[in-house]
Amino acid sequence: MSDKTVIVTGGGSGIGAAAGRRFAAEGAAVVVADLDQNAAAEVAARIGGGGGTATAVGADVSSEADCQAMAEVTLELYGRIDALYCNAGIPGVGTVVTAERSVWDRALNVMLTGTWLSMRAVLPSMVQRRSGSIIVQSSVAGIVGVKALAPYSAAKAGVLGLTRQAATDFAPFGIRVNAICPGTVPTPLVSGTLDAQIAAGLKTPRTHQEGLERALSHYPLRRLGEPDDIASMALFLASDESSWITGQHFTVDGGLTSS
Ligand code: NAD
Repeated sequence: MSDKTVIVTGGGSGIGAAAGRRFAAEGAAVVVADLDQNAAAEVAARIGGGGGTATAVGADVSSEADCQAMAEVTLELYGRIDALYCNAGIPGVGTVVTAERSVWDRALNVMLTGTWLSMRAVLPSMVQRRSGSIIVQSSVAGIVGVKALAPYSAAKAGVLGLTRQAATDFAPFGIRVNAICPGTVPTPLVSGTLDAQIAAGLKTPRTHQEGLERALSHYPLRRLGEPDDIASMALFLASDESSWITGQHFTVDGGLTSS
């Protein structure tokens, strides 16, 4: 990844923070973009403290102006955008009947529209350079039904369609677009999802611990994911190691959806 520049949205926490650290450890300059600017600054400072190169940018991916500014700052600082990891995400709890309209709208705005706007901001410079890799964060909830996650599942399935579509349009320009579908990785997003499910009486677990233990019982590899499990796939897809792969999604889920 030496001499490459990567933008990670939602880079201030969880999987995005792990990916930022991995990209930087492999020699990339990393733009850590997050709605939570302080969290982004902390991650960038830790990367810098370890000898890597990183810059924090405050950006709400559901805002077109923020996405454009994120791309402009990256180009000003580093002159190129080699990869974009569209990773920012939020919970989206409820069935088709019980989901609140505001939760539905926000889930779609951040995870589907936000992915579109982030791609849209970086693609012109990638087209100009005839090169680039875009990695889209979907979920196992984008490929199989998961109870009481209608807004989240709709957004995560939507980005898989967008991945294949954008891969088709931009392959002639040497730009690859692929998605990752992670299984459960305990992060603040998963805690927020469990909180919302418990509060709405949508799941029988009464505590996070109970919810995570119940999830774990479905994982053939007998552990939940670590942020680095997903970051490894993001690194592969961002790098030239995956140069003949586009329009695909890769499930990283400890075997969950295979059994
Ligand atoms: P996380 O809560 O640790 O991190 C999400 C980050 O996104 C946070 O730093 C948050 O501030 C940021 N963010 C939220 N809204 C934003 C916005 N509008 N603009 C910019 N940044 C915003 O969660 P995570 O588990 O690391 O999630 C990362 C991605 O992985 C999400 O897209 C999530 O849906 C996906 N995912 C997670 C899991 C899991 O089990 N953790 C499973 C499948 C998919």
